[in-house]
Formats: sequence, structure tokens, C-alpha cells
Amino acid sequence: MSEDIRVRFAPSPTGPLHIGGVRTALYNFLFAKKMKGSMILRLEDTDQKRFVHGAEQYIKESLEWAGIHLDESPWNEGSFGPYRQSERKGIYKQYTDQLLADDKAYYAFDTAEELDEMRERLQNAKVANPQYNAITRMQMKNSLTLSKEEVAAKLANNEPYVIRVKIPAKEEVRLHDIVRDWVMVHSSTLDDKVLMKSDGMPTYHLANVVDDHLMKITHVIRGEEWLPSAPLHVLLYKYLGWQDTMPKFAHLPLLLKPDGNGKLSKRDGDRLGFPVFPIQGSFPDGKGNEESFSGFRETGYLPDALSNFIAFLGWNPGTEQELFDQSELIEAFSLERVNKAGTKFDIEKAKWYNQQYLKAKSSKELINMLDSQLKEDSIDLDKARLEIIAEMLRERITFSGDLKNIALTFLNRPDSYVEKVVKKKWTREAVNILDEYAKRLPLLDHQVFSATEAKVLLEQILEENGINIGRVMQALRLAVTGQGGGPDLMQIIEVLGKVETSERILVALSTLEGNIKE
Ligand code: GLU
Repeated sequence: MSEDIRVRFAPSPTGPLHIGGVRTALYNFLFAKKMKGSMILRLEDTDQKRFVHGAEQYIKESLEWAGIHLDESPWNEGSFGPYRQSERKGIYKQYTDQLLADDKAYYAFDTAEELDEMRERLQNAKVANPQYNAITRMQMKNSLTLSKEEVAAKLANNEPYVIRVKIPAKEEVRLHDIVRDWVMVHSSTLDDKVLMKSDGMPTYHLANVVDDHLMKITHVIRGEEWLPSAPLHVLLYKYLGWQDTMPKFAHLPLLLKPDGNGKLSKRDGDRLGFPVFPIQGSFPDGKGNEESFSGFRETGYLPDALSNFIAFLGWNPGTEQELFDQSELIEAFSLERVNKAGTKFDIEKAKWYNQQYLKAKSSKELINMLDSQLKEDSIDLDKARLEIIAEMLRERITFSGDLKNIALTFLNRPDSYVEKVVKKKWTREAVNILDEYAKRLPLLDHQVFSATEAKVLLEQILEENGINIGRVMQALRLAVTGQGGGPDLMQIIEVLGKVETSERILVALSTLEGNIKE
């Protein structure tokens, strides 16, 4: 291969990673693996004010859970480190020095009040979008308007300053995006963004471009919200003399609310009753409170199902196939098949994927899942019983926790009976059959008690009494589980065993004695 493909996911540790961020990471990962390249994670933590404790760990854990393997990261350094921008602080100054020397950047000494004044002045003059740009900079306090001596004196005096990029007044900036094709922006719409802050820290724009260059990033795959920054990045590559090795861009479509009405936000999840974060957590909300949120992991989604679901949020393989495990996704993925239009977040589809992945689990995996879930409740079943339950529930579960939740509906003795079913189905004729069934069940002397034996005995009693099975089944279920519906009753009876089943029926018969419908 002529070029080593290197991509990066570059989150800022300012809070939990949203599901949109996981998608960006996944697309980077799929592309890197497809191209036999490297997937890098770089933490963009230059904005100290927005730093949130625990966010780094959250990002790490989320990606690990989602199966997104990182070839280089702050936790697994390669030869392009450090991978936290705060640890690269010393690297950036030489590049602002270069831009200053080449007249592509300048010092700006304006105070916060002076900047406010400028904005006010422009607003009063009905300027739609007041910004520090090619026109307004000439009225401000910077190295373009002050004399060389004044600038030197201010610097010598340690007066606070920022370094701003000098955006050309009239220039067409063209950039090619793999998803959007050519994007053209006129430089008059861009402002002179700050590259270096007064605390000596680079801003996102400078650090991002410098690091992508130094880390030999070949493709920048990121969310659409970064598209407006891309023209500035293109100019910076040009000014720094890196145009020939500038990465290719791919800006991913927005994730929309389920009704398509605007961008999916962090708040939508719990408002609409589904998670929008990979794993549950709790983070400061910026107003001094802790805000906790649910996660896909804790809701009972399998990581493979989630990956498959989010891979399709903005990409499709161009065929009818919907189920792709990770290696199939890698094989099928291409940036050319990423859509431009925003994608609605359809949680029903996520559930469907989860059902498919649960259904496809091996018997052994389901048994182990169920076993460890039941053990949390100190329920220890033998393998044969676990297997019956797991197989009985395979087609009925949406989330992994449903295994235990459904199992508990019949493993525990009923403490009540669904009233509607009692009223309709607790008939004299059913009660008579149940009574006999309860008495004869424990007498069965088969070596193995199975659903078949349980059924044969029931049918025998029904036949002796000339009664159709349809007239007693629900009453039997009610007596054994307290419920009006659920998984295969004969299999439940097999799991419970003949003695327990018989006892449950006897308890129901005495509890519901006064409720018999004559
Ligand atoms: N630090 C930016 C973020 O938080 C990275 C954007 C990019 O990928 O260039 O998403």
C-alpha cells in the first residue's frame, strides 16, 4: 500500500460521550480496519475550563464496551505521542511563530470590554453577524494596527494577548469532502479565530490541525457540526505549508430526533425513554448539579447489536442485508456510502437489532447469561433447567435482562392471581381437573419428568372427563404462575418439577376457593 491510512477520533473530555460520538468513533474504526490502517484516539483537552473529571475514563470504557479497538491512544501510546493535547502544550508555539513570521497570524491585545464594545458597535450599525474579521480587525488593538514598537513594548510588558489567524479578505476556499463532494466558502464569511489563548494554550483549531499533521492523519472523519471549521483548517494547512499532505475530509450526517425534528440531543434520551449514551453515568450539568443518565449497556443492549444499529445511522451497504457482525461491517464499510442527509434515531430499530443478536446466541451463551443473572438473586438452577428456560425465552427477549425478568415470573411462587383471568377462567370444571391433576402429578413414577409427561397426564385426565384442553389451560397457567399469559406452560411445569407444580395448584385451589365460577 502506497499510503498508511491513519484516522483519529478526537473527543474533548468535557462530558460523557454521546451516541453520536460513538458513531463517529465506529466509522473511523471501520474505515481504518477496512483499509488495514491505524485507529488513533487523541484527547482534545486544551480547554481547561470545560474539563470534566471522569470524562476520559468514560470515553475509554464506552469504546472498550462497544468493541472499538484503538491502535494508539493515551492509554496505549504509539510513536506519535503524547495523545493528550494538554501534554503537547510545548509543541504548538513554533507553529504560531511561523504563522506570525509569515504574516498569516497576528497578536491581538483587545480586552474583553473592548471586544464587547466592538460587538455592540457593529450591532448598532445593523451588521448581521458581528465578528473579528478582515474588516473589523483594522479598528482593533492588534499587531496589524499598532506600530512595531508598540507591539514590542506590550510583549515586553507581558500584556495579555491572543494570536489570531489572519483570514484573507477575499478568497474562495474550496475543500473536498468525501461525503459532500466540493464545498466552497468565501473567506469574507470567516472570522479571525483565536489560535493561541492568553494562557498559552492552543485553541481547538490550531491544535487539531497541527496534531493531525504531526500524527500523519490521512482522513479526518467527524460530525457535520465541524464542517464550518473545515475551511479555516484548510487555510491553516496551506499557511503552514502542509497542503500536499492535508488529510481528506469526511463529515458525517447529523443524528436527528426520532420525529426528524432537529438534532438528537443529550436531553432527548431520558425524555423519550431510551438511552442516548453508551453506558450509564452521572456528570455535572454545568449548573452545579450532578445529572445522571441511562446507558445502552445497562438497558441490556449487546455491544454487537448496538454497533450494527449505529453503523446504519448514516451508512448503508447498498444491499438488503441488515445484520452485520463487526468483521462483516469492516468488510462492507465505505465512506462513499455515507449519506449526506441527517438520519433519524429510531430506537425501535435498535431493539430489533438487539432481539436478532440475542436470538442468534448459542445455547451455551444464553445459559451462562441467565445463570449469572439468576445467581444475582441467589437462584441456582441445574444446567438442564437453565437450558429449558433459555431456549424457551430465546425468541421472546429484547434485552438481556429479560431472561431473568421473565424467568422470575414463573420461578417464584405467585403471590397473586390476575383478577381478569380468575373471573373468566376459574370455572368449576377447570377446578375439578386441576384438583385431580395436582393429586396425580406427584405419583408419576417416570425416571425423567418432562413437558411431555406433564402434558400426557393432563390429556389423560381431560379425556377421562370428556373435557377439551382449551377449557382448562388458562386456569392451569393461573394456578402455576398467577399470570394470564407467558412462555410455554408445559415447559414451565417441567422446570418447576411435579411436586412444586402440584403444590402450587393446591395453593391456588384453596386461595381461590371462593372465586369459582359455577
Ligand atoms: N475535539 C473535537 C470534538 O470534540 C474534535 C473534532 C474533530 O474531529 O476535528 O469533537
